[in-house]
Amino acid sequence: MKRMITTMTMTALVVSGFATTGTEKVEAATTYKVKVTADGLRVRTGPSTAYKVVGSVNSGQTFNYLGVSGSWTKISYGGTARYISSTYAKKYSVTTSSKATSGFSRPASGRIAQGYGAASGVYGYTFHNGIDIAAPTGTPVYASASGTVITSRYYGAYGNHIMMKHTVNGLSYTTVYAHLSSRAVSVGQTIAKGSRIGNIGNTGNSFGSHLHFEMHRGNYVYSASSAANSVNPLNYFN
Ligand SMILES: [Zn+2]
Repeated sequence: MKRMITTMTMTALVVSGFATTGTEKVEAATTYKVKVTADGLRVRTGPSTAYKVVGSVNSGQTFNYLGVSGSWTKISYGGTARYISSTYAKKYSVTTSSKATSGFSRPASGRIAQGYGAASGVYGYTFHNGIDIAAPTGTPVYASASGTVITSRYYGAYGNHIMMKHTVNGLSYTTVYAHLSSRAVSVGQTIAKGSRIGNIGNTGNSFGSHLHFEMHRGNYVYSASSAANSVNPLNYFN
C-alpha cells in the first residue's frame, strides 16, 4: 500500500511540476483548452471533411486541446479524440494551482442545514440559490476565493451581507454571504482567499443563526423561483 502511494505521488509530480514561491511550495500546472466560436460546428472522426460527423458543438463550449492536424484542431470530445475546424476553435491556456490562488473553499465551518435546489416556498422562495451553513452567531466567515468586495451592507432579505467578485481560471464568479452578524470588509477592497470577512449571524429573512452562501457565474442575478445563473457551491469547493 505504501509503495502504491509513493508511486502515485511521483506521477503527480511529473505531470504538474513544482514552482517555489517564497517559503511555500505551490503545485502549478498549465493545460491547453479550446473554445468553440461558432454554433453548430461539426465534430468529425478525422482531420478533413471526408471523415464522419459524430456530433456538433456550439459557441462558448470548451474542450481539452489535444493538438492540430493541418487546419483541424484535435479535441477530447466525450473522452475520445475528435476534430473540429481550427477556423472556429480558439486555443487558450489554463494555469491551475493547488494553493490559495485558485478554486473556491467552504466559507465557514458548520452543518449544511439546507442544500442548493428546489425549496418548499415556506420562506418565500421555491428555489434555494445557495447553501445554508448553520453555526453559532460569531462563527468566522472567510472569503471563498480571492477577489474584490462589490457589496457590503445591511439590506432586505439578506440582512447584513457581502458580495464578492472573483476570476477563477479565467471565469468570472460572484459570491454572496448573507445573514451576517457583522461585516469586516467594505466595497472596493481586494481580499485574499481564506481571509475573514465577517461573522455568521441571523439578520434579514433568517430563522436561526446560519450563513446563506451563493455562487453565481458572472454577475449576481436574483431569482426566487429558478437557478438563474447560480451554481451549487458544493460542486466547487476544494
Ligand atoms: Zn439560504
